[in-house]
Amino acid sequence: MSNVVNEQGSLSINSENIFPIIKKWLYSDHDIFFRELISNGCDAITKMKKLEVMGEVSLPDDNEWKVTVKVSPEEKTITIIDNGIGMTAEEVKQYINQIAFSGAQAFVEQYKDKTNEDCIIGHFGLGFYSAFMVAHKVTIDTKSYKDEPAVHWESEEGVEFEMGEGTRTERGTEITLYLNEDSYEFSNEYRAKEVIEKYCSFMPTPIFFENVDAPAKEAPKAEEGKDGEEAEEKKPQPLNDPNPLWTKHPNECTEEEYKKFFRDVFHDYKEPLFWIHLNMDYPFNLKGILYFPKINTEYENLEGTIKLYSNQVFIADNIKEVIPEFLLLLKGVIDCPDLPLNVSRSALQNDGFVKKISDYITKKVADKLSGMCKVEREEYEKYWDDISPFIKFGCLKDDKFCEKMKDYMLFKNLEGKYLTLEDYVKAAKEAAGETEEIPVGENADGTSATGENGEEAEEKKQVVYYVTDERQQSQYINMFKEAGLDAIFLTHNIDQPYISKLEYDNKEIRFQRIDADLTETFKEEVTESEEDWKKLTDTVTDMVKKALNKEKLTVKVEKLKNEKVASMITLSEDSRRMQDMMKMYNMYGMDPSMFGGEGETLVLNANHPLVKFVFEHKKSKNASVICEQLYDLAMLSHKPLAPEEMTKFIERSNEIMLLLTK
Ligand code: ADP
Ligand code: MG
Repeated sequence: MSNVVNEQGSLSINSENIFPIIKKWLYSDHDIFFRELISNGCDAITKMKKLEVMGEVSLPDDNEWKVTVKVSPEEKTITIIDNGIGMTAEEVKQYINQIAFSGAQAFVEQYKDKTNEDCIIGHFGLGFYSAFMVAHKVTIDTKSYKDEPAVHWESEEGVEFEMGEGTRTERGTEITLYLNEDSYEFSNEYRAKEVIEKYCSFMPTPIFFENVDAPAKEAPKAEEGKDGEEAEEKKPQPLNDPNPLWTKHPNECTEEEYKKFFRDVFHDYKEPLFWIHLNMDYPFNLKGILYFPKINTEYENLEGTIKLYSNQVFIADNIKEVIPEFLLLLKGVIDCPDLPLNVSRSALQNDGFVKKISDYITKKVADKLSGMCKVEREEYEKYWDDISPFIKFGCLKDDKFCEKMKDYMLFKNLEGKYLTLEDYVKAAKEAAGETEEIPVGENADGTSATGENGEEAEEKKQVVYYVTDERQQSQYINMFKEAGLDAIFLTHNIDQPYISKLEYDNKEIRFQRIDADLTETFKEEVTESEEDWKKLTDTVTDMVKKALNKEKLTVKVEKLKNEKVASMITLSEDSRRMQDMMKMYNMYGMDPSMFGGEGETLVLNANHPLVKFVFEHKKSKNASVICEQLYDLAMLSHKPLAPEEMTKFIERSNEIMLLLTK
């Protein structure tokens, strides 16, 4: 056993070169020194607890584990005190003077040429030295639990140190930082508390705070609402919660606790829909809670936060190497002590173990969701509209997740029932009494569909009709209902890429928006002679084109069973998807024909008296007005009119009404 001797030394080779680099690269956030020093205090206490459990030491009954942070805004100092294991002189030499510096050396060698993006996200055995990012002088006063003299250590700029016997009488360690001018802010009470809350909210030991320059507290008053009771001395409260909810067993947590934890951590007062509590020890340690929020915005605006912890020490938000991307839309906490955090992000990306953790999280989420669908179908359906964007996003991002979820994807039909695609297709076939099919390669606009190989082109596809906007497409929805046909709602932005994926994975299925084309079901057989029918269709088509002054417009005259419908617009699925894509790429305003997609088709119902009138009164000016009005009305129930079109439509409508007054 060595006695404490006054000792001076230079902190190992090359330290003059090390510090500028550490300061620059070690942690991009200087405030992280709070995390490092407080977590060292917690570690020292954990070690002491272990010794007690092992029977190596016995502690007084009134022993209370705690880390205390004291700030002095006047002196510009921060002191962090723990009652943990402490250090002997030998240990200070080993852990502070040597170990850290061999770590520093390795660090410098590994990272001196790396770019900023390659930031280090965790410890590097250099935690203690992060103090020098904010302080020009640091002192350590420590007394080991072993019966050895206290040690005082101090260093300026982390380059040279002095150590000797100290005056500390209690077991534990006290570290004092004399702040640099550009870091004075950290001795401000509110700033300090803010940083401690960010990194230390769930550290496993109670953390107490003291501002030594604050005016002495007034004598404690009786708490409000406790009139009559004796004034009790108010016990100071720790800043952190040493037993966060995720560390408990799911069976021991109540619904209210989960909700409160959500509010406390995310300051979000909207209730989460439900949550998944991850809790495992094998094959690695992983605990956490993932919350599914209620959404009312489009998915682009969704922003989640997944907070990553290692042994209750906050690491960072949204580390995409560990957390599957689609889960970043959720809110939650993950604690994984086994993570190799002392490496750079790029190394994390290529780490097989990290990938396993990420896969495991994905699997657990899929298990929970599929389990819910199987066991609590009603609940699942209730949440479906809110959670399906996440799930679909997950399916697009992660094939394994998609595979696990594929039998639990629901589709809401026109009746508002939630069905799997398989059930939906079965029911639709039964209702139609026959298979609704379109041959591949013969889409409505004549372009050829997916079939890259000849075989596929022979196959028949099952068409699934869908609605993207209930109000806008109501005319079509009504026609479908009247004809006894069904469709599903796919109203979210994510649905377009998602159905493309479904079509890609399942070549027998073809999705078609409800206004893409008129199926045979809606049409009546033409009884006129071929010649008469041609005359009618040609005449009407001509008149419409002239009246609208749109030579290129595609017009189709059909006999529709539904007599209430005079005119409607169809837009083939492929053209529409093309248009949507252009919109997405912000190319709108360019001529769509450039991209091969055709425009809208105007369908006129030859069974409707207005269309009959047009045919029978070729010369009449009214026929021309009717043509214009029929087109606008059809357009209106397809998409919003442009402002000048709307103005014309309103003027014309008024003129038509005037006729009623004559
Ligand atoms: P790490 O915590 O990753 O080991 P640090 O640089 O933070 O690296 O600390 C180096 C070593 O110094 C610790 O492993 C520990 O042995 C010792 N140490 C640091 N702070 C304390 C403390 N408050 N009490 C006891 N030992 C400490
Ligand atoms: Mg440390």
